[in-house]
Amino acid sequence: MEDKLQALFNECKTELKNIGIDLNNKIIGRITINIAKRNCNRYGCCKQELPDESSKYIEKIGRKYYVRYAIFKKHTIEISKWVMDLNNDIIKNTIMHEIIHCLPNCNNHGEEFKKYAQYINSKLNYNISRVGDKKQDLANSNIEIKKEYYNYKIKCKNCDYFFYRKRLNTNFTKKYRCGKCGGKFIIENGKFESKISN
Ligand SMILES: [Zn+2]
Ligand SMILES: [Zn+2]
Repeated sequence: MEDKLQALFNECKTELKNIGIDLNNKIIGRITINIAKRNCNRYGCCKQELPDESSKYIEKIGRKYYVRYAIFKKHTIEISKWVMDLNNDIIKNTIMHEIIHCLPNCNNHGEEFKKYAQYINSKLNYNISRVGDKKQDLANSNIEIKKEYYNYKIKCKNCDYFFYRKRLNTNFTKKYRCGKCGGKFIIENGKFESKISN
């Protein structure tokens, strides 16, 4: 499975080079790719390390300020096992999606990410989007994913942001605010199945 992943990654790199995106340059840094050890329901993820100090900027969300970096020098892409069980088109789409996250200013799904996705889609006939058709893709994969259950749903009062937790600090709503808008949280108790997320 690892060899197949490396081969497909190399194909992606060559295709990108042919349309003017050369990943072997100093600005992008080093990209490594692996199969995720834990079997989770995401397609893949990309960990960014070694931020370039000169690319530091401050982002204001709500009333809070966050330190961000536009450029990282080390990237580790992980592709989920269940994705490796699907056809090469889907695997390569996933790889391309994560490669874009390694490019400057693409550590999210913002404007710059979209620009690269559209460019690659039109030049190389890919179908990179923010999220894939996960329900369908999961159904097509033979690798089973353990469902996870959570006892708490934490929702922001202000925006549509929410997440799940198995355990929760008693002072959670006093201690923490929404990372997206600075709003207060409300908690719902129950049995929640983990949502498929990208
Ligand atoms: Zn992404
Ligand atoms: Zn919020």
